[in-house]
Amino acid sequence: MAVNVKEYDGNVSNNRHNELTHVTQRLRRVLSKEVDVSVGHQQFLSDIILEAKALLNVSRVSVWLFDDVTNPEKLVNFANTDWEGVITGPLPELTVLDYPNYFRAIVNGETISACDAITDPRTKEFTEGYLIPQQICALLDTAIFQNGLAIGVVCCEGRFEPRDWLQWEVVAAELIADCCSRRLLVHELWQMQQRLTEMAFQDVLTGLKNRRYLMDYARSEMSRHQRSDRPLSLLMIDLDRFKLINDEYGHDGGDEVLKQFARCCNELVRTEDCVCRLGGEEFIILLPETEVAKAMNVAQRLREEAAGLTVQYEGKAIRFTVSIGVADVNLHMPFSQSLKAADQAVYQAKAAGRDQIKLAL
Ligand code: GH3
Ligand code: MG
Ligand code: MG
Repeated sequence: MAVNVKEYDGNVSNNRHNELTHVTQRLRRVLSKEVDVSVGHQQFLSDIILEAKALLNVSRVSVWLFDDVTNPEKLVNFANTDWEGVITGPLPELTVLDYPNYFRAIVNGETISACDAITDPRTKEFTEGYLIPQQICALLDTAIFQNGLAIGVVCCEGRFEPRDWLQWEVVAAELIADCCSRRLLVHELWQMQQRLTEMAFQDVLTGLKNRRYLMDYARSEMSRHQRSDRPLSLLMIDLDRFKLINDEYGHDGGDEVLKQFARCCNELVRTEDCVCRLGGEEFIILLPETEVAKAMNVAQRLREEAAGLTVQYEGKAIRFTVSIGVADVNLHMPFSQSLKAADQAVYQAKAAGRDQIKLAL
């Protein structure tokens, strides 16, 4: 157990119990709230640290995480209140070289309850550069754990005079560190979910969006365009005689062509246009707010770009062409109908000799 902890006197033990119950309840309520973890750590930890500042009546609360848990040499400030309780920018990072005793204690998972931080062996190394300039006297620092390892620390600072930390205050600080741990875990899960969602909608080879994304996106774009009565066009692009490219340069050579063509599409269109790989050597570009005549121009530029592109692969230069079907997306029909119309236009472009553009009827 931590040093410098003052017990309540015997007959006030009920007080201690009530205090802790009150604190526990408030923290549990804070933690039960649904928070938006897509914002920065400063924001999604702010309710916890502001609550901690009020509950422990300290001057500042900050959250620090090791930049590498397997090699805990640096503590990076993730969130902090300022002295008035207003959130401020990040504090400078701390390194094990400057504060070896403090790092040792935190890595060991100790709770540092320093009545007088200037004399406590674990915190006196902060005296010159940190404590005296900011007039910090008392520190109550608690390790944040994840998977049984200390990943960082919650630091509660009292200014101007030493302070005997009460036992319930130490327990409360530990609960606060657990709250941070849980909130950080929620954030990690959210990040993981974001990555999975991205993967579910992305084509691995080209990095473009995939068919699943296109179908979702088209649905929402169609309803948006219906409301605003704005045009929506689509290009369906099929690489010509791609089988021959595979035959001649191998599957990897073909893959290189697909990747470079995907890059070429992305460079040519506007950011609001959606480029997808439908599968194989077929691509779709959805062009919001675009009349079909303008879509024909885009198709023309893309056809020329593709015909002018030379893909370097294992010392060989690969050339290719594309056939494109252009369709006006009918906002009152299922999207699959527009896809079908564009596909028929591609078929006509092929029949007409390839390296061509046809408008769907
Ligand atoms: P056309 O001009 O009529 O479109 O002829 P094509 O050879 O391009 O058309 P076809 O549909 O006969 O062949 C498409 C080829 O694309 C066949 C398939 O092996 C190849 N392909 C599909 N997916 C991939 C891929 O991810 N990488 C590579 N390298 N080839 C692929
Ligand atoms: Mg094809
Ligand atoms: Mg093809």
